[in-house]
Amino acid sequence: MNQNGRKIVIIGGGIAGLCTAVYALRCGYQVEVLEMHDMAGGLAMSWRRGPYTFETCLHWLVGSKPGGEFHSQWQEVFDIDKLTFVNSDEFVRIENAEGERLSIFTNVDRLEAELLRRAPQDAAAIRNFTHSVRALARFRIIDPSGALVDHWLNMLRDLPIFPLLTKLSKISGAEYADRFSDPLLKGFFANGDIGKMSAIAMVLSLAWMNEGNAGYCIGGSQAIIRLIEETIASLGGKIRFNAKVERILVERDTAVGVLLEGGETLLADWIVSAADGHATIFDLLDGRYVDEATRRIYNERPLFASYLQVSLGVGLDLSDQPPMATRLLHSPIMVDPGTELGYVGFRIFHFDPTFAPAGKTAVTCLLPTRNFQYWTDLRSNNPSEYRAEKQRIAEAVIGVLESRIPGVRAAIETTDVSTPASVIRYTGNWRGSMEGWLVEPGASFKPLPNTLPGLGRFLMVGQWVMPGGGLPSGPMTAKPAVKTICKYDHISFDLHARERIKPEPVAV
Ligand SMILES: Cc1cc2nc3c(=O)[nH]c(=O)nc-3n(C[C@H](O)[C@H](O)[C@H](O)COP(=O)(O)OP(=O)(O)OC[C@H]3O[C@@H](n4cnc5c(N)ncnc54)[C@H](O)[C@@H]3O)c2cc1C
Repeated sequence: MNQNGRKIVIIGGGIAGLCTAVYALRCGYQVEVLEMHDMAGGLAMSWRRGPYTFETCLHWLVGSKPGGEFHSQWQEVFDIDKLTFVNSDEFVRIENAEGERLSIFTNVDRLEAELLRRAPQDAAAIRNFTHSVRALARFRIIDPSGALVDHWLNMLRDLPIFPLLTKLSKISGAEYADRFSDPLLKGFFANGDIGKMSAIAMVLSLAWMNEGNAGYCIGGSQAIIRLIEETIASLGGKIRFNAKVERILVERDTAVGVLLEGGETLLADWIVSAADGHATIFDLLDGRYVDEATRRIYNERPLFASYLQVSLGVGLDLSDQPPMATRLLHSPIMVDPGTELGYVGFRIFHFDPTFAPAGKTAVTCLLPTRNFQYWTDLRSNNPSEYRAEKQRIAEAVIGVLESRIPGVRAAIETTDVSTPASVIRYTGNWRGSMEGWLVEPGASFKPLPNTLPGLGRFLMVGQWVMPGGGLPSGPMTAKPAVKTICKYDHISFDLHARERIKPEPVAV
């Protein structure tokens, strides 16, 4: 199926690696994806325990609505319309121990009414917030691989909302929360990494939800990955599992191949790393192709936290519960030395029938931490204490769940705890980060360079190139990378190239 005589090796079978494979195959390249794990997806992952499936990634997918923003870019890499999307009325419910609650609805009119009911004293700030959600519906994502004229057109379209975008990108979620006096409303904006990020991220996400363009697909993130894998197979691409790259081979400052764990060498015309950025630059390439600016970014720029995930298989129908619930706590949970959480968030997957048998429900709870070292050290040096710590965390989380759903403890059939050590083991992500670079107020969402200084025929894609991460960072970084490769090779970036090439006549 190799149609232009050139081969690309892609390191990493997460969403970015897979999307790169599709674009490259469509342009006629021979492609081999090397994935160290035994399945594709990276952070876009779920796992099965008995009859339950526990999702770690997907909350929402921007581009879920046919005709909506980013939908057509997904269509370039897989048939997104094969997925069934759920757009919940209620995104999350914020509650306290006293039983007070606030629903964050996805419909902005309903959201406004609910916020005004809960906090009439914050009416001015609430109206300002819902106005922003409505206004940002007009926002268009800039395609980094687009032509200059498209960028200008995009900018022109976004011009009326520029002042709002600028204002929101300069303040953090926590600063935004200060506009409200109601503790539940404050809690929504200020908790965890949302509080540290630029406020634009949450307001924009709500704007997309209001448009019905940030749905959850049945089957979770692996349903997306499986469809992209099918596209790759249909185009003749190859994904090799249990294939860990140890080194990128370089000759005369040109990437020429990779060395796999076990000693096998693979040669190619281009190497694209869709693996963790830090490992790529400092381990696979020994830090030989890095300038001061890149070094500074990796030393100084803040990352999204890592996390523990407590997953529970509950033998109850919990469909009367919200899909997501955040409980604000009186006494914080001590996750690890240096990490205390004043809230706990649950995802109650009654809306995905593929995750549990009828009448039962998969429930997950994500606990962010930046103390990844504690968990990796404990796992390596003291396995029994590691197990005990996981048990302690599970007990604490189950205690909170029991306080909001009395009797649930007795119905728990399966308990599973993953830690930052699991994230690092299965995805190699630096410090176990869940999404790469966190975009702080004032920082840019602009992609980082996808090349390294002085190294030819090598490119990087994925969340370490696109601050803010997320599944869309896969196609958003893959497309410009393949465009660059095509340009260099004097091949037209034509996504229908294969279909146009007529098969050779068969000799009879
Ligand atoms: C808890 C959580 C919730 C999230 N929620 C959402 C959400 O609701 N919506 C959304 O859009 N995004 C969400 N994300 C973010 C999204 O999952 C990530 O940004 C995205 O999946 C990153 O994809 P990637 O391909 O860049 O990297 P990764 O997924 O990290 O893929 C890298 C791949 O490279 C492989 N690899 C690494 N080193 C090597 C090596 N040496 N040799 C071979 N293979 C290697 C890894 O095994 C991995 O498969 C969430 C993430 C998490 C963790």
